[in-house]
Amino acid sequence: MYAVTNPATGELVEEIRNATDEEVRAAIARVHQGYSSWRRRPVTERAKIVLRAAELFAERADELAAIMTLEMGKRINEGRGEIGIVVDIFRYYADNATALLADEPMAIRGGEAVITKEPIGALLGVMPWNFPCYQVARFVAPNLVLGNTIVLKHASICPRSAVAIEHILRDAGVPDDAYVNVFASSSQVPWMLADPRIQGVSLTGSEQAGISVAAEAGKNLKKSVLELGGSDPLIVLDTDDLDETVKVTATARMRNCGQSCNAPKRMIVLADLYDDFVDRLTKRVAEYYLPGDPADPDTKLPPLASIAAADEVAAQVETALRQGATLRAGGHRIDGPGAYLEATVLTDVTPEMDAYYDEIFGPVFLVFRAETEDEAIAIANDSPFGLGASVFGTDRDRARRVAERIEAGMVYLNSSGGSQADLPFGGIKRSGIGRELGPAGIEEFMNKKAIRL
Ligand code: NAP
Repeated sequence: MYAVTNPATGELVEEIRNATDEEVRAAIARVHQGYSSWRRRPVTERAKIVLRAAELFAERADELAAIMTLEMGKRINEGRGEIGIVVDIFRYYADNATALLADEPMAIRGGEAVITKEPIGALLGVMPWNFPCYQVARFVAPNLVLGNTIVLKHASICPRSAVAIEHILRDAGVPDDAYVNVFASSSQVPWMLADPRIQGVSLTGSEQAGISVAAEAGKNLKKSVLELGGSDPLIVLDTDDLDETVKVTATARMRNCGQSCNAPKRMIVLADLYDDFVDRLTKRVAEYYLPGDPADPDTKLPPLASIAAADEVAAQVETALRQGATLRAGGHRIDGPGAYLEATVLTDVTPEMDAYYDEIFGPVFLVFRAETEDEAIAIANDSPFGLGASVFGTDRDRARRVAERIEAGMVYLNSSGGSQADLPFGGIKRSGIGRELGPAGIEEFMNKKAIRL
């Protein structure tokens, strides 16, 4: 069942029945059929439609932000911020469509060739709840520009976002057989993938969902892009403004109430700064104890996306404490019907504890002490994940050298957890396969056809 449940109050607002198998098959048939005409439209025409979608996202930012606040508790201003980057992504692919899809002539031994950039067909998107609009934009904007068509299964707690996005695309001029939202269940995904009319799948979500979708894609010889979890390190080498470093760290970790795949989740601080860092961070997170209505722009601590999510994170904290971690701040699930959890700081987390290797998808800071730069890098890399990382330091060359030794798909120097339309985004290890955004993001489901002239 798809359902809207307000995580601030626990109130069930709306339930929507899942699509039947026939409805799902009909959706696949539509985007399969739509592919032949959508791909034949001139690139400039598709780009114009995608640009119009950017304008409509901008116009409807308040409406979309309010939906996300209701569905998954995102603070209203963060919701508006999310739509800002969505607009940017649609604009980026529209503005650069011609250049990104231009033929590439090649001199080859004994002659010449050209690489043409072609779509591959109808794709399936499986999307998460944490950024209900941004995640969809990363997959949909480049693929519509390229000429692929899409059937999209959104997270079951975000049906209103799913419908609002479909309306925008339709109003922008995307034909109803080029993009179709379907309220499919995750158990329908395997046979959707097996359907020969589907050429590939992009999933953003948890490791478990990634494993299942990648296995089905593999069995059916379908291309898959997986954007999965992370436990990003944030290394502090040195700083001439510790307060500012702590503030940036706290803000980045608390964005989206700690539910960002590429939030810094493990802070690794060199020994001479460690005690001071923990002390100041502990004081700063006290700002995030008071629960508030996510629709109120002054709220600092919104709920997590669901009661289940809050209970799960609280249980992870409890396990860490039982296994010997030290609680420096917060740690409590807040009484009441909402999905609230205090911002929490844990130290003394060791490899024997679950928290050391698991992703904690909520407002929890793990702080590690490193005696040397090498030890900081070793801790950073001692993770099954490899999504993003941050390095803070006053010496840019040193920070850059450290960045080069980190096992991650993205590293940010003196900033944390960002994302921008023209910068490739994605991870290695168990954080996923493939890239979104930037030029890389339009190449994943592209047939780079070599024509020998
Ligand atoms: P999730 O439970 O895996 O759900 C994501 C999507 O996958 C939903 O549409 C879900 O459907 C579907 N799904 C779940 N299990 C499935 C299965 N076995 N087969 C097919 N589809 C399945 O993840 P989430 O809790 O929404 O999102 C949080 C996770 O996503 C975190 O680990 C986070 O780090 C990761 N994430 C990664 C990125 C990135 O770019 N790397 C970005 C954002 C989030 P239902 O809703 O119907 O269950």
